[in-house]
Amino acid sequence: MTIDTKALADKYGTPLYIYDFDYIENRYTTLKDAFAGKKSIINYAVKANSNLSVIAHLAKLGAGADCVSIGEVQRALTAGVDKYKIIFSGVGKRDDEIRSALEHDILLLNLESEAEMKRVELVAKELGKEARISIRVNPNIDPQTHPYISTGLHENKFGVEIDMAKRMYIYANKSEFLNPIGIHFHIGSQLTKLSPISEACIIVADLVRSLKAIKIDIKFFDVGGGVGVVYDDEVTISAEEYTQTIFEATKGLDVTLLCEPGRYMVANAGAFFTKVLYEKVNDDKRFVIVDGGMNDLIRPSLYNAYHKIEAVQLEDKEGNNEKTPADVVGPVCESGDFFGKDVPLPPLSHNDLIVIHSAGAYGFTMASNYNTRAKAAEVALQGGEDRLIRKRETYDDQVRLELEYLQK
Ligand SMILES: *Cc1c(COP(=O)(O)O)cnc(C)c1O
Repeated sequence: MTIDTKALADKYGTPLYIYDFDYIENRYTTLKDAFAGKKSIINYAVKANSNLSVIAHLAKLGAGADCVSIGEVQRALTAGVDKYKIIFSGVGKRDDEIRSALEHDILLLNLESEAEMKRVELVAKELGKEARISIRVNPNIDPQTHPYISTGLHENKFGVEIDMAKRMYIYANKSEFLNPIGIHFHIGSQLTKLSPISEACIIVADLVRSLKAIKIDIKFFDVGGGVGVVYDDEVTISAEEYTQTIFEATKGLDVTLLCEPGRYMVANAGAFFTKVLYEKVNDDKRFVIVDGGMNDLIRPSLYNAYHKIEAVQLEDKEGNNEKTPADVVGPVCESGDFFGKDVPLPPLSHNDLIVIHSAGAYGFTMASNYNTRAKAAEVALQGGEDRLIRKRETYDDQVRLELEYLQK
């Protein structure tokens, strides 16, 4: 992004999230083009960045939504996503969430256990509806990514084993209230290698063939999300390689291909802006203390994730401007509150800016109010214009749900 960092920081204040909507559009069309000639839907994984304007931007381009709570389903509907392009996944859906999803008549409920299937059947029966379902298969593939974002091994809580999936399909196919039309897997996030995706696709495509042989007609083949992005110097997967791998594995199957990219769509579109408050040196250790914290962007604290960090000095520093290593830390009362360690940075002064790159996915959506810190504002850049897409939160916003119960 070539943008006037200072002007944006002045206009909207810090800490601040900025998203490049043109970049998001480019990602969407690149991936959609790579599916050319096949029936496909790109179901944007809303949890990566669930700002309504981000979802609406993708919806206008034709994207569907992959949701993991009824709240996300509501966001998708509010933002204008076609209901027949919405999928509801997740290991722990409540009855009221299932009911609401069925009432909204979304494309698919993606089931992750036999017990959940029975619940969905019951709720569908109460409503006198037939629930369109897919089953999340756990193909037991090591995605070769961070263990916290690995989901496709039997040791992970997600999905069901192949044999169980088969039993569930046979059951669902006989049920008056279940219509098994989809199959799904999602083996992990930040995948940078094709082979795990290929292996998983092949295993699941074989299952589809054996289901078709017993007249269970799977129409939607959902390969999940997880395509990795560049945070540092990773070599990751291109859209073409990705879709070719999927085409190869599903050869001869008459299915609509679904995929659920989150990070791929938005991570590199976003940056987090924060201001320098102070510098300090403890012994020989240099700290740059900024006005954003782990409550705004938790990925470094939670996964030890790397984000490229750059400084924008507001005035030319006279004399020595040499970069030396510094830990960039926030004001939150936790030693884990950092954005980067030993980051080479020039001497910084109060109000200089720090830009934390690739913060468009799992940034704002994982933000909290820890330490009664208000959530940051969010801004969109599109066609050379900037616009607010979420106001900065206030103290009043934070205490609203408590104040009326306060007894002094
Ligand atoms: C989180 C998630 C995604 C998106 O993952 P990314 O790594 O952001 O692409 C897709 N599908 C499911 C079921 C998920 O849980």
